[in-house]
Amino acid sequence: MVDLNNLDKQCPKCSGLGRMENPAWIKFWTKDWFRALDTEALYTDSKNKELRQPSEPMFFICKECHGKGKVLTDEGKRLIGFIRFWINPNY
Ligand SMILES: [Zn+2]
Repeated sequence: MVDLNNLDKQCPKCSGLGRMENPAWIKFWTKDWFRALDTEALYTDSKNKELRQPSEPMFFICKECHGKGKVLTDEGKRLIGFIRFWINPNY
């Protein structure tokens, strides 16, 4: 019988998170909390230009696992190939 645990594994690129932090946002992160728009108002643009929030997204979806946090093992890839072959009547 197929052991499902052998078919996928934690994505090595994002460590299973499925996303990567955008480096442009790193300065907006403090130790335990995120400085959001409300508190950002405390930092006026004229005072602190570099604290403007980036227009880029906070996170990128991991390109390796497409946000799943897991990738197929070789065994998993073989099973998917097998299923694709048999699921398609016009193969
Ligand atoms: Zn990933």
